[in-house]
Formats: sequence, C-alpha cells, structure tokens
Amino acid sequence: MPNLAERDAAVLWHPYTQMQTAPLPIAVVGGEGAWLIADDGRRYLDAVASWWVNLHGHAHPVIARRVGEQLQQLAHVMFAGFTHAPAVELAEGLLGVLPPNQRRVFYSDNGATAIEVALKMAVQYFYHRGQPERRTLVAFRDSYHGDTFGAMAVSARSAFTAPFAELLFDVQYIDVPVPGREAAALAQLDAILQQHAVAAFIFEPLVLGTAGMVMYEPAALDALIRRCHAAGALCIADEVMTGFGRTGRLFAADFLTEQPDLFCLSKGLTGGTMALGATTCTAAIYEAFLSEDRARTFFHGHSYTANPVACAAGLASLELLLTPESAADRARIEARHAAFAGELRGQPGIRAVRQRGTILAVEFGAADTSSYFSRLRDEFYALGLARGVVLRPLGNIVYVLPPYCMQDDELALVYEVLRAMRALVLRPADAPAATHLPEFPLND
Ligand SMILES: *Cc1c(COP(=O)(O)O)cnc(C)c1O
Repeated sequence: MPNLAERDAAVLWHPYTQMQTAPLPIAVVGGEGAWLIADDGRRYLDAVASWWVNLHGHAHPVIARRVGEQLQQLAHVMFAGFTHAPAVELAEGLLGVLPPNQRRVFYSDNGATAIEVALKMAVQYFYHRGQPERRTLVAFRDSYHGDTFGAMAVSARSAFTAPFAELLFDVQYIDVPVPGREAAALAQLDAILQQHAVAAFIFEPLVLGTAGMVMYEPAALDALIRRCHAAGALCIADEVMTGFGRTGRLFAADFLTEQPDLFCLSKGLTGGTMALGATTCTAAIYEAFLSEDRARTFFHGHSYTANPVACAAGLASLELLLTPESAADRARIEARHAAFAGELRGQPGIRAVRQRGTILAVEFGAADTSSYFSRLRDEFYALGLARGVVLRPLGNIVYVLPPYCMQDDELALVYEVLRAMRALVLRPADAPAATHLPEFPLND
C-alpha cells in the first residue's frame, strides 16, 4: 500500500511547485500549537505560520469549538437577500479595530479576491462619479497582491507572470521607498499623478512579503498617500499579510497618520483556519454605489461569500487576538527578534537584518552570484527541515514569521537554525554541499 505522499504524487498538483523535481510532500496528520505533526511521527516547528496565515497555533481549541458549533447551526446560506450573526458580528468587530474611516465590509474568499474587489470598487467608484477615464492603477514595482488576473496585473512582473504579460492590464509602477530611496519614489509618483488619471494606488504597507520582507518606514508611505489624496486618487492598503498584529500593531496602517481608503484582509482573518477574505471601504466609496438605478450596483460576489463557518472562525480568532495574552505574546516575540537581530547584525555572512513586529528577515551572503544563492536557498530549506523547523527562504533571504503562541524555547530553536545557516554561508566557496540534497524548486 503506497503511503499518503505517494498517493498524492499520483493525483495532485501543488501550488508554486515544479512537480517534476519536487521531493514528495510531507504528509501532515495533525497540528498542535506552533507544531505540525507528520505521518511518520516527526514534528516540525512552523516558523512561517503556514504561509503567513496562522496566528494562535494549529488546531486551536477555541476556534475549533466555535467552528463546530456554527457547522451544526448553519453551514451556509447565500449572502444576497440573507444574512446571519457571524457575518454581522465579524464586520462589527473588524470596523471596531480598523481606522475609523472604514465603514463597510465586503466579504470574499481569499487574499486575491479581496484585492479584486478593492480594485473593482475603486474603478467603479470613479465610473459612478462621472470620471470613467480615471482608471490608472499605481503599484510598487516589487509588490505581490495575489495570483488572479487583476491581482497579478498590479503585482511585480516576473517569471511568475511572464506567460500572461499580454493579458495583464497596464499598471504604473513606482519604487519601494526603502530608507534612502524615499525621494525617488515620491518623484515617480508625482510624475504619474501628473500624466495619468489615477484611480488608486495599491500597496503592501511597511512590509513587502514576497519581495523578500522588504521594509520601509511609515513616514515614507504617509507622504505617498498624501500625494494621492491631494490628486483625488484612492489608496488601497493590502494588509493580507500585515494585518492582525503581524507588524506589532493590529494593522500596519496603525503606524500611519494618513488613512487608506480601502483595506484588503485575509490570511490571519480566520487565524489560519478557513479561507475568507474581506475588503473594507470608506462611507464615500460605499455611497457612490447607492442609487435608484440598479446599474450602479456592485455586481460582484462569490458562491461562498460570508460563509458562516468561516466568519465564526474569524470572530473567534479576532477575540483571541484582542486578549492581553495575545498582545503580550506579540510583544515578547518582537523583543526576542530584536535581541537576536542585534546578535546577527554586522557579523560575517550576514548582509542585512530587518524586523517589523513579529517579522524577522535575515539576508545572508557576501557579494556573490545568484546561482550560488539558489543553491543556498535549497540548502537552507533542507537544513531547517532536518532540524525540525519549517522555514521557506526567499532566495538568500530567510524570514521568521511565527504563530504568536510560539514560546521562547521554540524561538531559540529557530534562531539556532539561522545560526547554522550563517555557518553554511561562511564555509569555503568550493566546499561540497552539506548533504545529499533533493532538487528543491526555487519558489516562494
Ligand atoms: C498572500 C497575499 C495575497 C494573496 O492572498 P491569497 O489568499 O493567497 O490569494 C495578497 N496580498 C498579500 C500582501 C499577500 O501576502
């Protein structure tokens, strides 16, 4: 009888995976706190929160109970013409913690759909206001907003999007205003605002995840938002990754003095338990769609919009997030990260160390070639797994983005793996690979 991974290999196609060269996947049978438990009994510490979704730990009993109760009461009902308590209560909860200009919640299924909704709302907003020519979108050159067509269009153009290049609508790109590059980004934005009728500027606030945990300062984003608002353009904060405490405050926008007009939420929205997306907007945007004329309706929806079970998970997760214990955990992780970042900074083999809240990113290596880095990536990944720690390096950048329940001794285990990675970087360039490595695909 083939095992689960072998049966998988016969029938499944995995995301971001070169199926010809990828090793067999690890079959996971359970989760507990920050740990994943494999079918061979091995345990893996989830230092990337399962693709940045998990907040409170795996199989959290509170979320599990609330989901179970909701399933027995009402699993689903269409969300046009009907409503239910989990949808209403979660919307009330979200508007209670988002900046005060956020007044309406539109549910969808994941991060990419939350982005699609925000882009469509922004463009249709100007259409209804008699400015249909205002439809240019501005984005950061290195951004990532998801894999559907609209989300791809506003994301970085790369090998991931190359086959679709001709099908993606034009977007005006500006550089990320990393420290020292703020003026350049601002000048690029000014030129675009002069030459184009901009509907919206979409951005990952303060941390660009897939770009390699690239970080920039709140003041730089405030300046960009101020320019957009002065030119009458909307601002869309993609908080799919940064939302729900990840950056040290509930939302990255909480570091800003300017207020974005729309927010996109997903990933941590359900604590990493169920697929759910939400787009929120200001009263002005919502009101532009109000009319006796049915043509001014926001004609967008998904079969599972506002799924009650997903909303119940979202409510349970939000309640956990707002406990003093969770806030203390986030502060503790932030302090541990800061101490470890201090240890690494300036050491041989370390190019840069970045931190924002519970996110720590370490850029390894001295000046060298990119092929060397892709070898490093695979070795890093294998090294982590061999020591029972899941880390998914972005090239030569290794980040730690833990569930907030990760304890100090568990964090110490992760840091120990990062120290071992530094040792790998420091070995002589002609040294053989550390171990017999499978060909890992270079993906995110
Ligand atoms: C993951 C991510 C998305 C896409 O979310 P999905 O749920 O994977 O579609 C969008 N924006 C950002 C910033 C993300 O990190």
